[in-house]
Amino acid sequence: MRTIEIVEVSPRDGLQNETEILSVDHKVMLVKSVIAAGARRIEVASFVNPARVPQMADAEAVVAGLPDAQLVYIGLVLNHRGAARALATKVHELGAVCVTTDTFAMRNQGQTSTQSIDIACDIVGLARAAGRRGQITIAAAFGCPFEGVVSPDRVVAMARQAAASGAVEVALADTIGVAVPAEVTALVTRVRAEIAPLPVRVHLHNTRNTGLANMWAAVEAGAATIDSSLGGLGGCPFAPGAAGNIPTEDVVYLLERSGIATGLDLDALIDAAKWLTPIMGRPLPGMVSKAGRFPPSLPPIVKKGEYA
Ligand code: ZN
Repeated sequence: MRTIEIVEVSPRDGLQNETEILSVDHKVMLVKSVIAAGARRIEVASFVNPARVPQMADAEAVVAGLPDAQLVYIGLVLNHRGAARALATKVHELGAVCVTTDTFAMRNQGQTSTQSIDIACDIVGLARAAGRRGQITIAAAFGCPFEGVVSPDRVVAMARQAAASGAVEVALADTIGVAVPAEVTALVTRVRAEIAPLPVRVHLHNTRNTGLANMWAAVEAGAATIDSSLGGLGGCPFAPGAAGNIPTEDVVYLLERSGIATGLDLDALIDAAKWLTPIMGRPLPGMVSKAGRFPPSLPPIVKKGEYA
């Protein structure tokens, strides 16, 4: 049976885009709940400027509170200072980010696009020198909120440079959720051929309701790893147009029923999403946690004569 690896990103990408700021205890409980559901690779925090991203100000405290288990904890970093902070914690892997366009790269991390890939490669080197793993995500790989359409040639060139850095994988991120499946098929196929045998991960936002279709296109095109977020966390209701990552439980439902193993337990994910909902104070976008699994775990009780 084919296996797809899932990276749970709710504790970082999910919470970072929510207005509600969770306590350290709740963040640790969130990580523990996805571990209980089988998650083995989890983006747990970002080591970025707390003045700019107050949701992640307690990154060190969150990581310190996490259980020591046979897992991979990922810390997101955007520069050398962030890398130093992350390497002072017990995270196993640094996730670096480069951006395809200058405008978005400047707004997101105060770097040009070229600087962002150079610095991302430096971060991988720092991780490796410290005996950790490093990977690189190419943000706005399918489109930029400021510059519009992004050339696949630019993405491929960045992927080639990222692969040469010693990264364990390269990810293509639809940061603003504009991609459609045909584009995902084409870009994943091209980048895979370019960086093989290094695996391709995809990071998809469901801003235009194409997230799950894009995920399936990526799987069929040979992506090895999918980022997803419990409940589809990350869609801030106060930021017009913003939407969360594809929901982990919806991804697991789709893949497992299609004969692809994820290592995750759907019932435990649904329970975790139900636990998280009142904490976030709003219904989460994921749909499987509301509709339930199918077929159901237990047969429904049908009273005699109820169905004619
Ligand atoms: Zn994202």
